Amino acid sequence: MRLFIYCADPREKADLGTKIDQALILPGEKVARISLFGGPIFIAHPIHFRDSASMLLSQIDFAVQKFLVEEIVAIGHDCGFYDTTPALSALSKEDKQRDILRVRRALANRHPARAIRAFFDSSDESKTCFESLTG
Ligand SMILES: [Zn+2]
Repeated sequence: MRLFIYCADPREKADLGTKIDQALILPGEKVARISLFGGPIFIAHPIHFRDSASMLLSQIDFAVQKFLVEEIVAIGHDCGFYDTTPALSALSKEDKQRDILRVRRALANRHPARAIRAFFDSSDESKTCFESLTG
């Protein structure tokens, strides 16, 4: 089972759920999902988002144990949730990509037996595209 973590932003331009279905989930594949506003970014900023980071990590831990998750997929985008925290509201797209890599490393430390993948939504109007983040 793969676990996808992504922002719940419902705007058509964002709509990660639909894009993920189209681009990252195999036909007929059953996956687990954690979709919430901000997606995985809380894990990259546990000081600014302490309660949300803790909640999200416990949700992930539960899914890994209960549903035998073998791969965790963290997906970022140019997220508006950063604007809820003044200290993070001026981050660039590159900063936000680095955050998702930070999430990847944190999850790899927490769940070393699981594969951890990271993507960033780089779609434009004409094409859905997820950039794979490594490092
Ligand atoms: Zn978002």
